Amino acid sequence: MRHEHAILVVEDDPYTRTAVAGLLRENGFKTWREPNGTTALRRLRGRRKPCVILLDLMMPGITGWEFLERHRANRSLSKVPLVLMTGWTDTDLAQARAMVTKPIDPARLLRSLRRVLASSPCGGNRPRRGSGRVKRRGNRRAA
Ligand SMILES: [Zn+2]
Repeated sequence: MRHEHAILVVEDDPYTRTAVAGLLRENGFKTWREPNGTTALRRLRGRRKPCVILLDLMMPGITGWEFLERHRANRSLSKVPLVLMTGWTDTDLAQARAMVTKPIDPARLLRSLRRVLASSPCGGNRPRRGSGRVKRRGNRRAA
């Protein structure tokens, strides 16, 4: 089966969250939606991790900044690439793999996501390990 990328959308504004998730679904991504950093972190404690976290930087409660701290501090979490959504064009964070400014331009968001996913540790579209792996046997090339 083909790997379907799962994108975790962390966005407090319901309109933006729905719009972004809809756009991603239309383009073949699976989406998980969380309204804030607290619920997102809770969800990320589970074994299954998304392929990319799409994070709104300005949120009440646990803000995007605090989320970034926790992301950095947690070893398994820090492997999941981050894409930031921000209204600040001068934000520069090495931790983020890409930055999309608000208001969100759909084409730009998709471009950034695909670029990040191309090198994501989720393995992109490669077949999953263990399932039907083809072993090479007696196929040594003659020197
Ligand atoms: Zn993936």
